[in-house]
Amino acid sequence: MTSTATVTGQLFVAGEWRRAADGATLPLENPSDGSTLAHIARGRAADIDAAVDAARHALDHGEWGRLSAAERGRVLAAIGREVLAQADDLARIEALDVGKPLKQGRADAVALARYLEFYGGAADKVHGQTLPMPNGYTALTWREPHGVTGHIVPWNYPMQIVGRSVGAALAMGNACVLKPAEEACLTVLAFARIAAKVGLPAGALNVVTGLGEEAGAALSAHPGVAHLSFTGSVATGALVQAAAARHTVPVTLELGGKSPQIVFDDADLDAALPFLVNAGIQNAGQTCSAASRILVERPVFAQVRERMAERYRALRVGPALDDLDVGPVISQRQHDIVAHYLALARDAGLEIAAQAELAPDAPASGHYVRPTLVADVPPEHALAQEEIFGPVQVLIPFDGEAQALAIANGTPYGLVAGVWTRDGGRQLRMARGLKCGQVFVNNYGAGGGIELPFGGVKRSGHGREKGFEALYGFSTLKTVAIHHG
Ligand code: NAD
Repeated sequence: MTSTATVTGQLFVAGEWRRAADGATLPLENPSDGSTLAHIARGRAADIDAAVDAARHALDHGEWGRLSAAERGRVLAAIGREVLAQADDLARIEALDVGKPLKQGRADAVALARYLEFYGGAADKVHGQTLPMPNGYTALTWREPHGVTGHIVPWNYPMQIVGRSVGAALAMGNACVLKPAEEACLTVLAFARIAAKVGLPAGALNVVTGLGEEAGAALSAHPGVAHLSFTGSVATGALVQAAAARHTVPVTLELGGKSPQIVFDDADLDAALPFLVNAGIQNAGQTCSAASRILVERPVFAQVRERMAERYRALRVGPALDDLDVGPVISQRQHDIVAHYLALARDAGLEIAAQAELAPDAPASGHYVRPTLVADVPPEHALAQEEIFGPVQVLIPFDGEAQALAIANGTPYGLVAGVWTRDGGRQLRMARGLKCGQVFVNNYGAGGGIELPFGGVKRSGHGREKGFEALYGFSTLKTVAIHHG
C-alpha cells in the first residue's frame, strides 16, 4: 500500500513521476463509502504532448527501440512475475478504488500477470513469410510496430485491460501512452511503478491520468499517435474513432454488450447455474461481457428462474474490503442509472424474481444497489435491449433454436454469448448463428480466456485484442519484393 501514496497526484512520463503541467489534480472516490481516496493528476493536452514525445524518443533514440524481440519479451515476463508477487497489494488497491471484492481484484492481478507472461513469451514468435513470385524475384513480409500507440481504458477492469492491450503493444515493440479512467486508475499507476522498477526502459510506457474530454480527447486527436486502442462506451468510442479519422489512424474499439447465455432444456443445469449468476453479478455487473440476458427454453424456464432466484437471495453485498460476493457500483451516477432501469421494470409491471439484500453495515454513503433478477422480460423491452452496467439480469423464455437465435441476435450489440446444451449438432448450429465475437459452449469465459481473441461485432466494436491475434493488431505488415535477376 505504500505504492499508492507514492504515485498519486503524478503522471508517469519518460520514466519519471511528475505533476501535471499546470499542477491540477482530481479527487478519486472510494465507492464503498464515498470518501476521497486520493488525488490524481489532471493531465491535459500539454501532458499528452509530453507523453507522446517521450514515447517517440524511446523508439528513435532510447534503449527501448534498440531491444530485440526476445529482450522485450524477457522484460515483460519479469514485470509479470513482479505483478504476481504484488497481487495481494494490487487487489487491495483495486478494492478501494473500484469497489471490487478482494478475491475479484486478486483474480484481475493474476490475469494481468498472465497477459505479461503470454505476450512476453510471444514477442519473438511473430514472423513473416516468403511469397511465391516469378523467377528473378524474392518477396517477403515482416511485421513492424506501429510506433506510438494510444490506449484509453475504462475503470471496470483496469488491470486486465491494460494487460491485454499494453502487453501486446509492448511485445510488438510499440511505445505506449496510456490514459486510464478518471473514476479508477490507482492499479494502472501501480503497474507503471512495477514496470519501471523491474527495468522497462524509460518512455516505453507513459501514463497520463485525467478527464476523458481533456486527456482522452487530446490523445485521440494527437497526430503523433499511430494506433489507438479504446475500451469503453459506444458513445465515447465513436468520438475517439472520429478524432482518429482526421489523421487516418487505425482504432480498435472494445465497446459494450448485452450478452446472452442461452439454456436449452437438455442442458446440465447444475453445471450452468453458477455461470448464469456469476456472469451477471461479477464486479457488480459492470463487465462488458456480463451475461445480462438469460434465455431459457420454456420446459426448464420455471426451474432455472427458481434456482437463480435462490442464488440471488443468498448473495452477500457490501464493502469491497469485506470481500463478499458483490461490492458497490463505481459511482452515484452508475447507481442512478441502475435505479432508472429498475424503475422502468416496476413501471412495466415486470416480475422481480429475486433481489439480494445489502449487508447491514454497508455505509449509506457507498454506492450499493441490490442485485436484481427480473423474470419474463419481453425481448424488445429496454431492460432486454440496453446495457445497464449493474447487477441486473433479465430472464427471457424461448421455444426452439430459431427463436433463441432471433432473440439473442436481436440487440444492437454482439460481444459474447454462452450456449448450454448437450446436443453436439445444436452447439455448432448455435455457434454459427450467433452474431458476436466469442461463443462459449457449456461454459462462459473459459476461465479468463487470455489466449482467446476477443472483441465485438455491431455496436460492440471492431478489432480484436487478447490471444495471439492482438499481436497482429498492434503491428503492421511490410512487404518487400526484390528483383535480383
Ligand atoms: P467511457 O466511454 O465513459 O470511458 C472510457 C474511457 O474513455 C475513460 O478513460 C474515459 O476517460 C475516456 N473518455 C471519456 N470521454 C472521452 C473523450 N471524449 N475522448 C477520449 N476519451 C474519453 O466508458 P465507461 O463508462 O468508463 O466504461 C463503461 C463502458 O465500457 C461500458 O459500455 C462497457 O461495456 C465498456 N467496456 C467494454 C469492454 C470491452 O472489452 N469490450 C471492457 C470494459 C468496458
